[in-house]
Amino acid sequence: MSLMALDIQTLFFSAVTVSFTAGVAAIYFGSQDMSYRSVRDWGVATVVMSLGLALVAVRNNTEAMVGVLIASTLLVYGMVLMYRSLLVYRHESTRDMPGLILVGITIFTVLLWRVDIVSLGTRTAVVSGSVGIIMWRCAWLMGIRALPSARCSQRFTGAVYAIYALLQTVRVIAVVLGSSEDVLAGGLLDILYMQGITALWVLVTLGVIWMVVERQQEDLLQMAMNDPLTGALNRNAMLSSFEHERSRCGRNQGNFAVVMFDIDHFKRFNDTYGHLTGDAVLQGLVVTLREVVRQHDSVGRFGGEEFMVIMPDIAGEVATQVAERARQAIQERGFVVKGQRVELTVSAGVAVFPDNGQDWDELVSAADSALYNAKGSGRNCVVLA
Ligand code: GH3
Ligand code: MG
Ligand code: MG
Repeated sequence: MSLMALDIQTLFFSAVTVSFTAGVAAIYFGSQDMSYRSVRDWGVATVVMSLGLALVAVRNNTEAMVGVLIASTLLVYGMVLMYRSLLVYRHESTRDMPGLILVGITIFTVLLWRVDIVSLGTRTAVVSGSVGIIMWRCAWLMGIRALPSARCSQRFTGAVYAIYALLQTVRVIAVVLGSSEDVLAGGLLDILYMQGITALWVLVTLGVIWMVVERQQEDLLQMAMNDPLTGALNRNAMLSSFEHERSRCGRNQGNFAVVMFDIDHFKRFNDTYGHLTGDAVLQGLVVTLREVVRQHDSVGRFGGEEFMVIMPDIAGEVATQVAERARQAIQERGFVVKGQRVELTVSAGVAVFPDNGQDWDELVSAADSALYNAKGSGRNCVVLA
């Protein structure tokens, strides 16, 4: 079968059906959750564009100028809305949108005004070119300027938009060179273009849905692993980190340390300055701990005002030195309440795998006893199990 045997009207109708259906599905999906809002907006944009496409398909005589002009405007305006939905996804201001909408309306007005002298080719080039430029911008935002979260899906969608924009550019060049003025002419390029649009629309739909789902997944993972007050790892995440180290050390006979920190006389601090100030202290403490320990050490909140650091590949003496450095840093930093510096100290207990224990329970109790000893010997010090 030759590609040329395909009927362009039918292909056009398929493209309209696919984009319209994808748009409606996206609106439905996007209305299910506030965090899916960008998909809903993308769906609205898609429906607008598919109506534009439908209008292009039904005009069979170029005399029906108003139909053509409305079609052109719907296509450009739909693309502007599509770009806007991407800004919504990025939590970026959509205030510059009136400007973009103005571009769409200007094209419409210019075309309406000069309709009798503007050739079909010029019009096609202007409309396809505008859509192409906005598409390149979408591709750039999702590919090169992708947000740090949900990277896979953004790159995927960005790549699809880039191919789409490329197809659009090829089409504009073909129109300018005069090899394909009317998409309904059914030449080989037109057929490939229609097929391309249909395939890419399916992929972009997948992409924009994947983008919100991937982001939500990352947010949920973040919530499942971190303590909401301080952002430190929670107990579950510390346990996973512990098990990871244990299985690694089991294989290559290495060792790692568990350090338990507890703030000294924190109850007194709370009673004096209030719980909210106490909470701020806990947050500041995590920042200090992170600054002092190595990058691959895990800082977690064990409970209340007790924090745990898991330090891979380290022996007891070095771990004790690191904990001592942390203790000093916390004491030196202190805490400022109402412009006044308040002293804050911690005590710490250090336990090392495998000498002080083989599993979580054993190591945690070893670190806990060491901490208890640190408290017993006057606080503000570090004790190795
Ligand atoms: P010690 O030196 O023996 O550790 O004395 P302490 O007062 O710190 O004793 P303990 O460790 O038993 O005190 C725990 C206190 O920590 C009790 C509670 O008021 C405070 N605390 C626990 N969780 C939080 C929290 O999320 N926010 C605030 N502000 N305080 C907390
Ligand atoms: Mg405590
Ligand atoms: Mg305490």
